[in-house]
Amino acid sequence: MTRIVMKFGGTSMAGIERIRIVAQRVKREWEMGNEVAVVVSAMAGETDRLVNFCREASSLYDPREYDVVVSSGEQVTSGLLAIALQAIGVPARSWMGWQLPIRTSDGHASARIEDIDTQALGNSLTNREVAVIPGFQGLASGERVTTLGRGGSDTSAVAMAAAMKADRCDIYTDVDGVYTTDPRIVPRARKLKRVTYEEMLELASVGAKVLQTRSVGLAMKEGVRVQVLSSFVEATDDPEPGTLIVGEEEIEDMERQLITGIAHDKSEAKVTLAEVPDRPGAVAAIFGPLAEANINVDMIVQNIAHTTGSTDVTFTVPRAELARALDTLEKSRGEIGFSKVIHDPRVAKISVVGVGMRSHAGVASRMFDTLGARGINILAITTSEIKVSVLIEEDYTELAVRVLHTAYGLDAEDEAA
Ligand code: ASP
Ligand code: MG
Repeated sequence: MTRIVMKFGGTSMAGIERIRIVAQRVKREWEMGNEVAVVVSAMAGETDRLVNFCREASSLYDPREYDVVVSSGEQVTSGLLAIALQAIGVPARSWMGWQLPIRTSDGHASARIEDIDTQALGNSLTNREVAVIPGFQGLASGERVTTLGRGGSDTSAVAMAAAMKADRCDIYTDVDGVYTTDPRIVPRARKLKRVTYEEMLELASVGAKVLQTRSVGLAMKEGVRVQVLSSFVEATDDPEPGTLIVGEEEIEDMERQLITGIAHDKSEAKVTLAEVPDRPGAVAAIFGPLAEANINVDMIVQNIAHTTGSTDVTFTVPRAELARALDTLEKSRGEIGFSKVIHDPRVAKISVVGVGMRSHAGVASRMFDTLGARGINILAITTSEIKVSVLIEEDYTELAVRVLHTAYGLDAEDEAA
């Protein structure tokens, strides 16, 4: 008996016509004799609408009530899908997060799943019933409804697959898989058949917004086989039509490329503090207050001290936090002792990702050569074992992604660009 979790995103659930198509997909799997649990998102745009209502009601809204409001979008779609399934002869019922329950932490609006009671669900599936579960929601102590943070339905689906020991977790979205890079920038981008959890984590967190990053981390920890596929492409007999996210051991050496993908991210801003005193504790005086203000610093570059005994420190913060970061720095100006702050939101982070670089030298230098040859200036660099990221001027984003895609041999052969 194969047990699967199918997850459908907001665009797949946007309106009754689409929900009917989803119901057909579910029916197909169910008719093959599979045990099927479905996790759904709210209709596209609905969660934004609900969030705005809360803000309108009061800028200081109670997060517990925010969760009551925003979790309702998924309640609607799970009920509607159960109705659509019943209408085509598939026994189905919805299970709200509190009915199972899906236990979470108390962190309202960004709660973490702690435990899922699968007893009732298991019985339902064994009785050939399809279980429809709203994503994004759970239940905290005091029996209060929680939500998991935006995009959290992916995490609901993976957690559900782990708890139910499902054989597969199929995430249906509006793209047919994970690509070597954004196909809107590089028409010759290729769909990846398989990608490792670690690569997907890097690609998800650096801007390939296919899955919520947290869901990938959870899948890696729990060993859940996740497939990303499109609900807008006709179902076929191909068991792996999308991109499979799996452990490294499941990827044949033959299909392994040096670089798996290239991501870009325009959500950061660059900050430079000029003439920071070159003494122990100076850097701590900068990043301590930022951390206290809950501002995530990503790339950091510290220049060599001038003969003057001072140094420039450059780093990036989320663009949305730039104003708060500048304010925080200004308040700590006395302790830090810089001469001025220069900031620039018009930057982009370009990252090349691939487990292949663990065993190959020269990945970073090829990146720098390729960008240099096009006159693209590098403002900051960070690396990890399987990733090299550079910060460049935003205007060069598309060019950088395109030339790197070619330089690492990722362009598809058959299609002309
Ligand atoms: N509906 C929620 C959101 O828009 C959760 C999700 O769709 O993953 O963030
Ligand atoms: Mg999503």
